[in-house]
Parts: sequence; C-alpha cells; structure tokens
Amino acid sequence: MALEKRGLTPVEILRDEARCSICLGIFQDPVSIHCGHSFCRSCITRTWEGLTTNFSCPQCRETKSHKTLRPNWELANMVELANVIEAAKSLNLQQVREVEGGENLRGQKLQSRRL
Ligand SMILES: [Zn+2]
Ligand SMILES: [Zn+2]
Repeated sequence: MALEKRGLTPVEILRDEARCSICLGIFQDPVSIHCGHSFCRSCITRTWEGLTTNFSCPQCRETKSHKTLRPNWELANMVELANVIEAAKSLNLQQVREVEGGENLRGQKLQSRRL
C-alpha cells in the first residue's frame, strides 16, 4: 500500500477531498460555483445571503456578478462513499481496513487491466 507511506490512508485522502472549506465538515449537498470550488449548498447560500452582485468565492476570492451554483454529482458520490466508510468505521474497524486495502486497490487493478 504505497499511499500509506505518505501517512494518509486512501480513506483519509477521500475524506479530506470531501471536506467543505466553510464548515470544515463533510459536504452536505455539494455544489460547484463559478471558479470550480465546491461547498455545501447551505454553506454557500448562507455566505451569499443578501448579495445581489459580486459573489466572491470564500476560498479563492474570485468574484462574479451573478450567482452560479451547479450540483456536483461526482463530489456527492465521493461524500456518500466517505459517509459509508465513516459509518463502517464506527461499527467495525476491521471492515474499514478491508475497504481501504482490499476492495479499492483490487478494483483499481481490475480496471487498469481491462484498459
Ligand atoms: Zn459546508
Ligand atoms: Zn474559488
């Protein structure tokens, strides 16, 4: 497991990617905005509450004159996976180890072999 050498397990990397920079929690209903950054729908809605122009990204400050919110399905799937792993972790640590080391890596290998 090469990823573990950097001190992060694949699950930790996944959970890191699935984190909203406003509430620092795992995304709830993730949406992408004009610059490509993603936030929970409720977080970005609250941040932009009352604004009619100059919508600026809380992360990179890129500003746009009108609001752009696109559902980010890819991220939503990732969040779902992270939540499942989180739930499994609290139930049974050993199961998580199987997901981390076994299923993911095996799945990747099968995919690359098919290509
Ligand atoms: Zn959030
Ligand atoms: Zn941004």
